Amino acid sequence: MKKITIAKGDGIGPEIMDAVLDIFQAAQVPLEYETIEIGEKLYLDGYASGISSASWESILKNKIFLKSPITTPQGGGYKSLNVTMRKALGLFANIRPTQSYFPYVASNFPKMNVVIVRENEEDLYAGIEHQQTDEVVQCLKLISRPGSEKIIRYAFEYAKKYKRKKVTCFSKDNIMKLTDGLFHQIFKEIAVEYPEIQSNHMIIDIGAARLAAQPESFDVIVTSNLYGDIVSDIAAEVAGSVGLAGSVNIGSSCAMFEAIHGSAPDIAGQDKANPSGLLQAGIAMLFHLGLVENAIAIQNAWLKTIEDGIHTPDIYNATTSSQLVGTKAFAQAVISNIGQKPTRLQAVSPPKDAIIILPEVAPKTPKTKGLVGVDVFVHQSNKNPEVLASRLQDATQNTGLVLKMITNRGVKVWPNGFDETFCTDHWRCRFEWILEKKPSYSEVLLLLQELFKHQLDVIKTENLYMFDGLPAYSMGQGQ
Ligand code: NAD
Repeated sequence: MKKITIAKGDGIGPEIMDAVLDIFQAAQVPLEYETIEIGEKLYLDGYASGISSASWESILKNKIFLKSPITTPQGGGYKSLNVTMRKALGLFANIRPTQSYFPYVASNFPKMNVVIVRENEEDLYAGIEHQQTDEVVQCLKLISRPGSEKIIRYAFEYAKKYKRKKVTCFSKDNIMKLTDGLFHQIFKEIAVEYPEIQSNHMIIDIGAARLAAQPESFDVIVTSNLYGDIVSDIAAEVAGSVGLAGSVNIGSSCAMFEAIHGSAPDIAGQDKANPSGLLQAGIAMLFHLGLVENAIAIQNAWLKTIEDGIHTPDIYNATTSSQLVGTKAFAQAVISNIGQKPTRLQAVSPPKDAIIILPEVAPKTPKTKGLVGVDVFVHQSNKNPEVLASRLQDATQNTGLVLKMITNRGVKVWPNGFDETFCTDHWRCRFEWILEKKPSYSEVLLLLQELFKHQLDVIKTENLYMFDGLPAYSMGQGQ
């Protein structure tokens, strides 16, 4: 029998996990469980990420992890267990289905049924941040071709398996032409491989607004990490199902399944918690494991229970509910409905084979890469760009590079900037090769030495490259 790792977590975690396991047992789900401890106790015992090495071993051995929510203690020094898990286990895809269960659960959008497929490992969540000057800090946004290919292909494969009709890509490539531009470009490349599925792209701001106002017009949404984090909460909120939604984190060898809500310490130990979010995560896990019959039986029993109006306090309302129940009684109601189907909510009929296996990302032929200049970032408290330009020109007159432009927060301030542009102490100074010189990195090192000798405070450099003869760096705004 397949063994999986489970963690009962903190707050309401143990109650909702017991409810899920009772339902699994009644439905004769063929799984064995290895329980690990994670969360608050581990944090307080000195594990910075809330998990011990023995628990890691269990997850790495069993590969499948069903996780109850945990409490993160207040105060600094504690790392997010979820972020640590996603990155350490290579869980590249976060899948969040959000559906309206109207009229049994209040929602303004009775027909909403959206799945958000969110990239989980890179983007601004790579967590690479630095303070560089008194006034400026930075966070690096990293978007990779393989990372984008994997998540976008996953979204199309998901749509195919679950008979979805449309995949929408959200990005902000009108502004971030290289990073979000790559994500959008790869979306277009992969979309043509799935002609049977409609595809479209929306700029994230209007996309998020539409999702909030007209969620019924979306089917599957694929997007990068930060946007996905935000839009998946918007989707759950407008569906009225924050307490009912599960979340799936998929990697090439491991997978983690959890509710989207937290540990709800305010109602812990009171038999009031709704176990539906964790149950939905558990059902997604059964599909992932190929236990499709069990998954369908439990999902239909759960839909029937919701439809019968047997509700926990968080979704109870006098007009559509028939019975107010606690966690345990709700689980018993689901158990007694196993074998039945809902009559008004749509019963589930996903494919027999719900497992998504992605091909390896094919390596691309390397492009021809040529160094054409360097952006040198300088800390200077004097806010006059002319002063900086003349210091830089003095310092670099004997090098093979020439100062072409200075920007401040991306806006060109030299040559010919506007007096109106607000400047901080963080300057990007673009140098390019003088025509007769052959570009080489040793020239860049010489340039840096000269800047150092002239007491210019260089905080970092970015090389400027052409890839296959095309400039692969952004222009200054106003350049
Ligand atoms: P929360 O989701 O725990 O609770 C928000 C509100 O929703 C509370 O009123 C709570 O009673 C209610 N609620 C949540 N789940 C419910 C359920 N299943 N049934 C009925 N009501 C439910 O969010 P919070 O209060 O901001 O966070 C509490 C703790 O959970 C914090 O320590 C936070 O760090 C942690 N957290 C953990 C995870 C996770 O482990 N994945 C996610 C989010 C928050």
